[in-house]
Amino acid sequence: MEDSKSKDFINNHHDKFYLNYGFATRSLHAGEHVGQPETSAHTGAIYQSSTFVFKNSDEGAQLFAGEKSGYIYTRLGNPSVRLLEAKINALEGAELKKKNPDLRISTIAFSSGMAAISSTLMAILSNGDTLILADVVYGATEHLASNVLSKFGINTVEVDTSNISALEKVIKENPKAKAILFETPTNPSLVVSDIKKVSETVKAVNPNIRVIVDNTFATPYLQRPLELGADVVVHSTTKYICGHGTVVGGLMTTFHDEIKNAVYMMIKDVGGNPSPFDSWLVNLGLKTLPLRMEKHCSNAMELAKYLSDHSKVAKVHYPGLKNSPYFELASKQMKHFGGMISIELKGGFEAGKKLMDNIEIFTLAVSLGCVDSLIQHPASMTHACVPKEKRLKAGLTDGLVRISVGLEDLEDLITALDKGLSIV
Ligand SMILES: *Cc1c(COP(=O)(O)O)cnc(C)c1O
Repeated sequence: MEDSKSKDFINNHHDKFYLNYGFATRSLHAGEHVGQPETSAHTGAIYQSSTFVFKNSDEGAQLFAGEKSGYIYTRLGNPSVRLLEAKINALEGAELKKKNPDLRISTIAFSSGMAAISSTLMAILSNGDTLILADVVYGATEHLASNVLSKFGINTVEVDTSNISALEKVIKENPKAKAILFETPTNPSLVVSDIKKVSETVKAVNPNIRVIVDNTFATPYLQRPLELGADVVVHSTTKYICGHGTVVGGLMTTFHDEIKNAVYMMIKDVGGNPSPFDSWLVNLGLKTLPLRMEKHCSNAMELAKYLSDHSKVAKVHYPGLKNSPYFELASKQMKHFGGMISIELKGGFEAGKKLMDNIEIFTLAVSLGCVDSLIQHPASMTHACVPKEKRLKAGLTDGLVRISVGLEDLEDLITALDKGLSIV
């Protein structure tokens, strides 16, 4: 009964799939006017309502029984949220649907990236199961595994997913594994894992393991894990997808109905649903995702080249540089190389702090993927409480500075870095 209800609710995202349109066209049009009450509004409305009105008792009964689709209560579904979910289905799934028209792509939107990640893991894993987690992931994802999932009898084993033979060994050694979660490129060292190879290796050894990719750094414009063999893709929309620094939000997309149903049960019974207004803002941001990503990537590429030749910089991590160990893989797997750069300053910790305090234009703030450029120094900020040994293992050296390259004029960004670096 639960199943038919949730299916009914989420599956009519597939009405209009824009199969023959390009990514930019889909990001503008998909989901718009679908399942929205009949009005002549051009832009999807913000349905800031917690509950919905039944015409009569029969309709209420039908909606609850899953015999009729419609809205009941915003935790269970809302037109503004559904518009966002429908758009993401079209962005993540169009190529998959073209190859396999029977496939049902489903997206569930969340109140944060962590709500999407925790709900997905809780949906897939049970007491006694093992989670294989990449050794470098977003801090809260690691804490979720070690501090929260562990309380419910879910064991976590870490592995470097960019090392396929190490991965194969870990999969063989952990027959109780039910899921693997990794990010590519990683934060902030920008290590790239081969999504296709990881998926194939995992499935060859243990087909029961679900492959989950956190695609926050790349976005569906640059990289689509489901096309490369992953079962589930999760995003923090807080970053590039919303893009304007206005929302904390998340997404989960899959073509497995049983995963979608299990994740829907989490949003229904645990919560974690996004607000209609936030969903509206994320949908608005998505319309310019292709344009923004083009500029983020071209600015980042030029800055990475400029920084590679700078006398104060020991190392630049950016997969788009020809001397990056990930250049070839990233060229194959991603449309462009992303908007994130990290650099190691020769002057170490003090140089990092000094740059933070003197740089112009770049905003000193955590988070990433904003329209404007952000800069942060993990050793004195986000990762200051992480023991140095552990920090270094994750590639977070004392002089490492992470830059989220924005959409400013390239010359202004170079001038600001030039001035800032001249002081350190
Ligand atoms: C920010 C981020 C998250 C967490 O998302 P929130 O929206 O902050 O909950 C997860 N993974 C990656 C890679 C992130 O950058």
